[in-house]
Amino acid sequence: MEKQHHGTITKVSGPLVIAKGMKNAQMYEVVQVSKERLTGEIIKLENDTASIQVYEETSGIGPGEPVYQMGKPLTVELGPGLLTSIYDGIQRPLNDIYEKTGHFIGRGVQVAAIDHNKKWAFSATAKNGDEVSEGDVLGTVQETELITHKVMVPPGVSGTVSEIKEGNFTIDDTVAKVGKKSVSMLQVWPIRKPRPSAEKLLPKTLMTTGQRVLDAFFPIVQGGAGCVPGPFGAGKTVVQHQIAKWANADIIIYIGCGERGNEMTEVLQEFPELIDPKSGKPLMERTVLIANTSNMPVAAREASVYTGITIAEYFRDMGYNVTLTADSTSRWAEAMREMSGRLEEMPGEEGYPAYLGSRMAAFYERAGFVKCLGSEGITGSLSVIGAVSPPGGDLSEPVTQNTLRVTKVFWGLDAQLAYKRHFPSIDWLTSYSLYLDNVNDYMRQNAGHDWPEMRTRAMDILQQESKLEEIVRLVGIDALSPKEQLVLETAKMIREDFLQQNAFDEIDTYTSTKKMYLMMKAILTFYHEGGAAIENGKELKTITSIPAKDEISKAKMVKEDNLKSIEDLIDRLKKDIQTIES
Ligand code: ADP
Repeated sequence: MEKQHHGTITKVSGPLVIAKGMKNAQMYEVVQVSKERLTGEIIKLENDTASIQVYEETSGIGPGEPVYQMGKPLTVELGPGLLTSIYDGIQRPLNDIYEKTGHFIGRGVQVAAIDHNKKWAFSATAKNGDEVSEGDVLGTVQETELITHKVMVPPGVSGTVSEIKEGNFTIDDTVAKVGKKSVSMLQVWPIRKPRPSAEKLLPKTLMTTGQRVLDAFFPIVQGGAGCVPGPFGAGKTVVQHQIAKWANADIIIYIGCGERGNEMTEVLQEFPELIDPKSGKPLMERTVLIANTSNMPVAAREASVYTGITIAEYFRDMGYNVTLTADSTSRWAEAMREMSGRLEEMPGEEGYPAYLGSRMAAFYERAGFVKCLGSEGITGSLSVIGAVSPPGGDLSEPVTQNTLRVTKVFWGLDAQLAYKRHFPSIDWLTSYSLYLDNVNDYMRQNAGHDWPEMRTRAMDILQQESKLEEIVRLVGIDALSPKEQLVLETAKMIREDFLQQNAFDEIDTYTSTKKMYLMMKAILTFYHEGGAAIENGKELKTITSIPAKDEISKAKMVKEDNLKSIEDLIDRLKKDIQTIES
């Protein structure tokens, strides 16, 4: 080690270290700072002077100490053993660090990202003599009970399989030879470089969340990017847990950049306890958590989003549907701001660096529905949901604005709604999805043939409500025509009987697309039949007092295997209204 070339620290400013004498250094090269060997990354270079972002606490480190160049970029280890892991921002397993150094994470701890000693049962799918290229599957490993890990030919490798093994191996052992190249189960990939895929495809499949307000009105697609601003207490955590549990995703990656230590502690306690409703097994069996612990400096948040998304892409490459949540990206942006300030760069809006927007765009652009590498032509998807925490709920601030520019879905959690106990507190008037057209075919097939029209009608009723409410406030309800009053009645049903959904109720926690469709159909049947009855001179009062109306509010409690009862309700609503006597 003593002979290894090193530069010399000239200045330390929090997580920023300046070193001179850095020969042939590269941008984004990994370095080890001081004898304590703290991990850092070169983020600026001028001749042989490097500005280094250090991912560990730098107190007590000073000028004159060495900086060792590692000659490689910051990378992650990819292979069996990722699932169920809880990592810090630079892919160090938190449990292993705790074991090594106790709860006060020591500095310069070097631990392997995945277990290099564990043996995995590799079963070959490729044969000797097969022509393979990057992305082709050589064999599989049952990584957890829920997920089969596909061992792929790494990017950049192709040729004839000249040897393929079968049996128990560590991730470093050779399991196949492609041409002359030995292939193991381990891939190492630089986190700032997107993993390649064959082609980006137009995403058209709904990422079902089982949450009616999202699936019905503000859908995200598998491979889409969305943004959820979350004022404290508005229900951000519940939304994220619901997505993790219910989304039609195979793999969940959760990146936590909590501001306060206890926020992260909550995640670390709660996530491992979540049960996968589909299998009854711990959700962690198909999850990787990245947690920025409170005793790591803010700079580590910068790395964590890239660490997380690279792991996510790796599972996408196997043909899985992956959902990644980053909570909260505002903390990541603040880390950029802090480093930029220390680098004395020209500040942009509110002190954020001018490149804030391009960095965020580059991150979200790694989402997508893709044709994977490999001759099979399989597809995979990576959906990214970024939570933002705008200070004071002010959505005009730069992080929210830059996020909105690149994400196509906006789920606006509203503190007022949460206060009124309307959950999920997604504001239906400000939220939007630009994927509505993408999912139309999917919805016609899986919900009902007329879903897109129903959705438009329901949204229209809610928008009319907000206008009519204004009139009611000014001149009272009597100023409204019976038809307008019917709009208010219906909007109330949509809000209370459809949009409100209790995450903690066994049945209400999840709604299938089909059930969602029927629930909305019942409400709109009431609206259309009621409108026709008014035109025929019937009184609104008699329409709203038909017996079947009350049952609409109970539809959310109907079990998934009894959807026929909602169909029956729809028939009864029609009959009840049509047979009202004048
Ligand atoms: P945040 O993470 O934004 O601070 P939480 O997600 O912890 O807020 O939500 C705060 C509280 O709101 C929860 O403890 C719960 O009581 C209630 N809540 C949020 N969403 C729902 C929901 N979908 N159903 C029922 N209660 C909810």
